[in-house]
Amino acid sequence: MASVFFRTKLGATEELAAAPGQPLTDVLRRAGIPLNAVLTWCNGTIAAEETTVVHAEDVIEVRQVRHYDMDVLRRPRRQVYGVPDPVYAKTVLFDTMGSLERKTEQLDAAGFVQYVEETFVQSVLSHEVMRAGDKVVVGLSGGRDSVAYLTLLERTRDRLPDLDMTAVTITGLPDWEEPATFAAARESGERLGIEQVIVTSADVERTFKLKGQFVDAMNEVVAGEGNHLTMVIGHQVLRRMLEEEARSRGAGVVAFGFNADDLVASMVTWFTSGFRMGGLPVREIGDLRYVFPLYRITKKELTLYLELVAPELNRQGTPGRFTTGPDERSMSYALTDHLFDLWPGIDYYLFAAFANMQRYMFPLIEVPCRGCGGLYLMQEGIANAPDLCDVCDFFARRELSTVS
Ligand SMILES: [Zn+2]
Repeated sequence: MASVFFRTKLGATEELAAAPGQPLTDVLRRAGIPLNAVLTWCNGTIAAEETTVVHAEDVIEVRQVRHYDMDVLRRPRRQVYGVPDPVYAKTVLFDTMGSLERKTEQLDAAGFVQYVEETFVQSVLSHEVMRAGDKVVVGLSGGRDSVAYLTLLERTRDRLPDLDMTAVTITGLPDWEEPATFAAARESGERLGIEQVIVTSADVERTFKLKGQFVDAMNEVVAGEGNHLTMVIGHQVLRRMLEEEARSRGAGVVAFGFNADDLVASMVTWFTSGFRMGGLPVREIGDLRYVFPLYRITKKELTLYLELVAPELNRQGTPGRFTTGPDERSMSYALTDHLFDLWPGIDYYLFAAFANMQRYMFPLIEVPCRGCGGLYLMQEGIANAPDLCDVCDFFARRELSTVS
């Protein structure tokens, strides 16, 4: 019989479950032991974990290289509040003066719906994310996230401040049309008394001074060396068009439907790239307030919420060529999902830390773009094109716009 022993720096020895033929990396992963934390001896000889396969009669010893208690993650202190038939378990790993505890609340269907709605209401009320009398412009793709957002608004409106809200749908790229759910989004908006506006590709072409059609410009982006920028450009265009709409209606607030993991994923990108990122859940740039009312709710929670309250709306097409990001984007989402496993509730800590950090970072320098007229944030340590945002710079360099 093969044996794999894990010797911790705390003096404990633990036999790990292993079967002949199993790669050692798999044994360690199942036991929650990172490769970087250990050195391995196979029958008395040092061996790389990646090339070690467990054989019958092997004695494998895995020694932790640093003195710390790995069990804080492998076997955390837990408290579970149970219900019969849970559909979801909300876990938060609390750090109280350095001491950790995982608290889990199991939720049945009714409890979960109530939890999401309460979280949404609290998110809107705290940090004055949206205030009574605000004129708000919200982007509405008609896709699943925006339907979930409207459903939340509809079901909690009696607990929310009175808002004057306009939903803006920006068209112009085939990927931005979500016919399966768009009609439902419109109906939901109508019930809420939300005015609905369509921005067309002609509006996009005018704002960005494009020579030809927006879809042709984007096709060139996708096909060419700008491929990795496709989503960035798409998002930036959406943002810019929302701002334009806000300005033309005298609205001071632009609401985005980004959820908790979207924002943590952008933080992952932010802290590995150093790019400037504005505040969360409220950022003020120029005279506009950008707000993120879904910042406390994860994609999984939103999807489950919709599945429970309006399953017929829980459909989404496969992403098209304009909404498929580069590897880097997938990695930031994958890292985010793993982070939520390792430290459930890390979003609460990250957002609070980031709010604190905003106070000691250099003030954001806003520069108006002479192409599209939007304000963009200067990036430190990078040669920004003078007075041009990334997107206008991109279009200008490829001579897709009349901006030079
Ligand atoms: Zn621009």
